[in-house]
Amino acid sequence: MKKGTIFSIEEFAIHDGPGIRTTIFLKGCPLRCKWCHNPEGISPQPQYMIKKKEQSICGYEISSEALANQILRNQNIYQLNEGGVTFTGGEPLLQSDFMIDVLERVKPDIHVAIETSGYIDTDTFRKVAPMFNLVMMDIKHTNPLIHKQYTGADNKVILKNLEFLCSSGIDFIIRIPLIPGVNDSEDNMRKVASLIKDAPSLLRVELLPYHQTAGAKYTMIGQEYKPLFDTEKKPAIYKNVFEKANIKVITL
Ligand code: SF4
Repeated sequence: MKKGTIFSIEEFAIHDGPGIRTTIFLKGCPLRCKWCHNPEGISPQPQYMIKKKEQSICGYEISSEALANQILRNQNIYQLNEGGVTFTGGEPLLQSDFMIDVLERVKPDIHVAIETSGYIDTDTFRKVAPMFNLVMMDIKHTNPLIHKQYTGADNKVILKNLEFLCSSGIDFIIRIPLIPGVNDSEDNMRKVASLIKDAPSLLRVELLPYHQTAGAKYTMIGQEYKPLFDTEKKPAIYKNVFEKANIKVITL
């Protein structure tokens, strides 16, 4: 039995994959996206958080057995609604051994999905991604320098993992957070489309326009929100680029 650190379990979620789902938020992320709306998920350790003047600890350790039992409790609801469980974070693949242990306890009864940045070594990605029924992978920028400027790391390993995903046969969705003036250009969308257009198991692209509320949680964990882009500006939405490439696309 493995232990992992999570910071939230949301039951009856409807935006994190098909049907009604339980979303598990795992702690720890190697990236530092300037627009991150879950900054409490970045540190791998539990940390203090102040909400409405009340201090609490964000994050706790849980065993794979306890988490699997909690997931299995809602099995009937998932089956009735073609739902399941989604692992997100932070970057859930940072705790891949723990996640594998949970997956082995709930599969094949439960539909399992993951939301990942793809920023993880290729061996781990190739081992864990095929265990999921659905992979939702973020692509933030195709340019390595701009990627590094706004997330703290270049995109080399992400693009390698994307290449694997495109040829793997695993059902997947590409999610693009649209950040005004950073990655919302027509050129960047074209480059993303050209990377994924021939993938047989790509279900769709989901565009997620930036929301000003993204910065709300920083003060709760004692940090300052420093987005380094114009948060007042609305991001451009080039759905047509994907439509022209025969890729299904929606805006969330
Ligand atoms: S990958 Fe996701 S969790 Fe990690 S810093 Fe970026 S937005 Fe936040």
